[in-house]
Amino acid sequence: MKYLAGNESVNNMFESINPATGKTIRTYSKTTQIQGPIEEVHQSWLNYRHTSWEQRTKWMFNLAEELRTQRSSLAQLMTDEMGKVIGEALAEVDKCAWVCDYYAKHAAEFLKPEKVTTDASESYVAYEPLGVILAVMPWNFPFWQVFRFAAPALMAGNTALLKHASNVSGCALAIESLIVRAGFPHQVFKTLLISSDRVKEVIAHPAVKAVTLTGSEAAGRSVAGTAGSYLKKCVLELGGSDPYVILADADVELAVETCVKSRLINAGQSCIAAKRFILVPEIYDAFTARFIERMKQIKVGDPQEEDTGIGPMARRDLRDELHNQVVRSVAMGAKILLGGSIPEGEGAYYPPTVLAEVTPEMPAFNEELFGPVAPMIRAENEEHALSLANDSDFGLGAALFTRDLQRGKTLAEHHFQSGSCFVNGLVKSDPRLPFGGINHSGYGRELSHHGIKEFVNIKTVWIK
Ligand code: NAP
Repeated sequence: MKYLAGNESVNNMFESINPATGKTIRTYSKTTQIQGPIEEVHQSWLNYRHTSWEQRTKWMFNLAEELRTQRSSLAQLMTDEMGKVIGEALAEVDKCAWVCDYYAKHAAEFLKPEKVTTDASESYVAYEPLGVILAVMPWNFPFWQVFRFAAPALMAGNTALLKHASNVSGCALAIESLIVRAGFPHQVFKTLLISSDRVKEVIAHPAVKAVTLTGSEAAGRSVAGTAGSYLKKCVLELGGSDPYVILADADVELAVETCVKSRLINAGQSCIAAKRFILVPEIYDAFTARFIERMKQIKVGDPQEEDTGIGPMARRDLRDELHNQVVRSVAMGAKILLGGSIPEGEGAYYPPTVLAEVTPEMPAFNEELFGPVAPMIRAENEEHALSLANDSDFGLGAALFTRDLQRGKTLAEHHFQSGSCFVNGLVKSDPRLPFGGINHSGYGRELSHHGIKEFVNIKTVWIK
């Protein structure tokens, strides 16, 4: 059987391929005419922007309920299309319902006009919706990535177009249908099944006011370039190479547990997964030995089975790319302590892998490892460990393990060049906290009150 990556097309179709088996689940016709749908979503906005907070809140709570009602089938769809283990898929649906509830409860308060005392008799800041927003989204959290954009965007009074990753067309259509079932007005949210080469056309349309992309650095450069050339607002949530720094006074057991979990969530395909383990000499051997022990206990296999720790990666081409990064790092002196070879079979599996003696010039250090590969990096001392953490083009998340909480707080706040830093815990997203990166990890923020203000017109009103 010839393997096709999810974003390849046959006869103007997208194929969803189960990465656990390599078999085609379904094909989807691509959207050919895109001007019509864009116009419709724009027309819908002209009315939707005037709907009341009460109405939008009701629809958003309905959306959370729809997610809960269809929890099992939505989770199953994710598992089938991109191989996420079923327990994680169920948790993802729950998290989407949480973000809907969160913005249903808080959007009006976040976007309440703010009075400012000036020489006017009344002056204030109002938050107005922008119009149609395009979301270009990745396959790794096929529901969560879309909902964390859509919940605040719709509550703010915008309407939205979704161009989802080509290997999760079923998820893309399911999201549109959930929004319809929640009772939102006709065409406030529309999925376009298009290839990435048509994103430019969508951004260029005058009705499209802004674009948000979650994905790779290369896609970010392309989308930001187009948005820039049309003078449109852009938010980028790109890749990361989060450092996890373990200091000599760390609770090594806690650090190992947290690091293994963070590295293996979603078969290692998370932007905020732990991607570089930076260890001071005092704990290098103990940490690495225990880490390997724990990685060996993880069951790799069928994502449908509840006790499976990691399933397949989302596509075989992505698995092969990861293996190539391992091979290139080994050629430069990294040592394989666990895993590191492609198993037999049609599935896109890759084993939990540990690389030792990884250094900054290797791909395992300076490229994003988007899969279950853990590089151990030996720092000379604490100062060196902290400097290695920032030795990256990315700047998404970071984590630090130490028992000295005061020092941890100071370092988290002032040392790490990243959009977040977690002390003694794994980097995670939470609707209540802003999420995003700096440098090559992108710009702009999602979630919290910061996220909902990305796609609004911050308008000054001055009255004498
Ligand atoms: P990707 O290849 O960049 O794809 C992401 C989305 O962008 C897909 O819808 C894709 O469409 C589209 N796309 C790709 N190239 C494009 C281009 N030149 N112009 C317009 N659209 C384009 O990324 P991925 O492999 O799906 O996802 C993995 C990457 O996303 C990793 O780097 C990961 O760290 C990052 N990510 C970041 C965050 C965050 O919040 N910072 C969250 C999740 C993932 P097709 O599928 O049709 O190619």
